[in-house]
Amino acid sequence: MLVRKHPPKNPDQEQTIYSNLYSKIERYRFQMKGVLFDRDIDLFRETLVEGKEYDITNPIIARIPEMFKRTEQVYQMTINAATQISETQSAVELPSYLIPLTKVGDYIGKNERIDIIGIAVHMHDKAIVRAKSSGIPYEVRKVEMLDTEMQVIQLSIWNTLVTTEAEQIAQIIDTLPILEISRVTATTYNGASFNTSFASTIKINPDSPTAQLLHDWKKSHVTAIQQIKNKFIGDTGESSQQLQPCVSVQQLSEQQSGTTTAWITGKIKDITNKNSLIYNACNVCNKRCEASTGLPFTCHAFSTPHSATSEPRCVVHIDFEDESGNIPVTLFGHLAEQILCITANEIAVLSIQEQRSFVDNHIADLQDKIFKIEMTTYMLGENTQQLRWKAKRIVEAQS
Ligand SMILES: [Zn+2]
Repeated sequence: MLVRKHPPKNPDQEQTIYSNLYSKIERYRFQMKGVLFDRDIDLFRETLVEGKEYDITNPIIARIPEMFKRTEQVYQMTINAATQISETQSAVELPSYLIPLTKVGDYIGKNERIDIIGIAVHMHDKAIVRAKSSGIPYEVRKVEMLDTEMQVIQLSIWNTLVTTEAEQIAQIIDTLPILEISRVTATTYNGASFNTSFASTIKINPDSPTAQLLHDWKKSHVTAIQQIKNKFIGDTGESSQQLQPCVSVQQLSEQQSGTTTAWITGKIKDITNKNSLIYNACNVCNKRCEASTGLPFTCHAFSTPHSATSEPRCVVHIDFEDESGNIPVTLFGHLAEQILCITANEIAVLSIQEQRSFVDNHIADLQDKIFKIEMTTYMLGENTQQLRWKAKRIVEAQS
């Protein structure tokens, strides 16, 4: 079974792209790394899917060079054009290793496989940790998770999962995504510590029955979960209002860094997308989708596809101004609804002309008010490298 598929990398500037995949034969409890190079990556791109079982004939099996060895594995296989890969027809019933978050404490220090599933409520900023012995820096990102018992556990995400999955989770953390993480290690470091391992996979909003139950439970407990989430925002100081002084619009425009957040104070001068206040989005992860409103579809926004329904989502592009200048800011979802005082579903039934005149009437009310906006950056489009500012929070300031 293919446990994890890493995206192609380009480690030196010489077009030697490779892609790892871990293959595991469950019956023998044995795991092997597979590598693909150059054109072979495209050749097998569609064939190899995480979670599926394959018969792999004729790969090249060789010892892993000493310098690339990171685990106790000795051999790796290279998959190339001469390799035959076919999906096995027998559906193997995999044993479940899912442990409820309230029970993970029982596994601390034991060398047993545990998988966990929970609702991600808060993502900490990325940090660098140096290995004690070698001094090699490792990236780590911690996520706070809970399940129906409301007990919070902290999981440290390591290695390639930091740059791919953790980044995706951070982008949608406000939607309280459901995460299924395999092969979590529970150690006694600092009392108890839960970490991903080299063989871990993270599924974001997976489609399993367990995830569906959790998703339904989440919907009816949003307020309680939100309270727990707010505690983290207050405790850590990350994105806390007190620790981040307001900057002027001018200072903000000069900032290039991708992850900074800042507060600005000023007035909304205009709304620039009067004809396109809503778009269709996945009701699970909020990503833009092509499906028509109300229709069920399979969302491929993340490496693990999930079933979803297309729902209208609100977006507002504003011109924000203070004494130093003005800056375009995007407001998504409930922040846009908050500013417009109307819901995405209500906008959906208006004609273009009605939307236009609604905004024109409403903008006059907004222009006199002073707002404080907590800003962060986002990438416009998937492949463009264009950074834009979006609001994380918006509050009306006392004038
Ligand atoms: Zn989605």
